[in-house]
Amino acid sequence: MSIDAPIQPAENQPAENQPAENQPAENQPAENQPAENQPAAARVIDGHKVYGSGDTEIRALDGVTVDFGQGRFTAIMGPSGSGKSTLMHCAAGLDNLTSGSAYIGDTELGSLSDRDLTLLRREQIGFVFQAFNLLPTLTAIENVNLPLTLANRKADAGWLDQIITSTGIGDRLDHRPNELSGGQQQRVAIARALVSRPSIVFADEPTGNLDSVTGGEVLDFLREAVDDLGQTLVLVTHDASAAARADRVLFLADGQIVDQIDQPSADAIFDRIKELGG
Ligand code: ADP
Ligand code: MG
Repeated sequence: MSIDAPIQPAENQPAENQPAENQPAENQPAENQPAENQPAAARVIDGHKVYGSGDTEIRALDGVTVDFGQGRFTAIMGPSGSGKSTLMHCAAGLDNLTSGSAYIGDTELGSLSDRDLTLLRREQIGFVFQAFNLLPTLTAIENVNLPLTLANRKADAGWLDQIITSTGIGDRLDHRPNELSGGQQQRVAIARALVSRPSIVFADEPTGNLDSVTGGEVLDFLREAVDDLGQTLVLVTHDASAAARADRVLFLADGQIVDQIDQPSADAIFDRIKELGG
């Protein structure tokens, strides 16, 4: 996967001002919003992803069906090689399924041209990776604004303020990444993921390069983005205490969803990992 896939250059993207969509979602706790009443932010239906063929064939995804409901925080766990990143990449349009379908809202990703897929990713999906992937020559605020700059859009000032305040990077905005700690860099990356008010944010082991205290702060912030901003979030993690912050945790093994826990506790997650032999 190319690390800059989510933020490729703009192709004449019209500047759009949609104040209503730039307001933080209020009164949208997940428990007040039964999944049946609204489309999922993202869905995969009978997703298969096969690498190679014959003796070397790897079924990275082997019939995965999953909904990521709006305003919900889902964690994905499973042993190394179980297909977590592949599921995330296919659900987010960074990679394509071998068979089955992936939707963002009502849009089936396999039906889109490369250009439309790029635009959809830029406008509707936020990404946070383990390696923060900030551009070293840009300041923190320039990195945060990059997705909008590439699309010839301007950030909604109120929304930008809110993201900067809640990520706590306000006094670091003019610094370049090499002048920031790992935790600060990841906060900038998260602010960048949120700036376009995406319908879903995918985070693949975002605390993997952080110490546990800093990682905990980043995870708390992601939880707040769900609770306070109505953000839909999918978090891939190895860490039971990270997954315990989610509304639901899915367990992958050999490319299949083998279990799930709603409102998980860290203890319940540990027990399940032991049972699954992870
Ligand atoms: P996880 O994120 O859970 O560690 P991945 O989704 O990265 O797992 O990988 C799932 C399986 O697919 C693994 O067996 C991995 O080796 C394989 N795989 C992932 N990407 C590729 C690729 N580009 N080419 C071949 N095999 C791959
Ligand atoms: Mg992975």
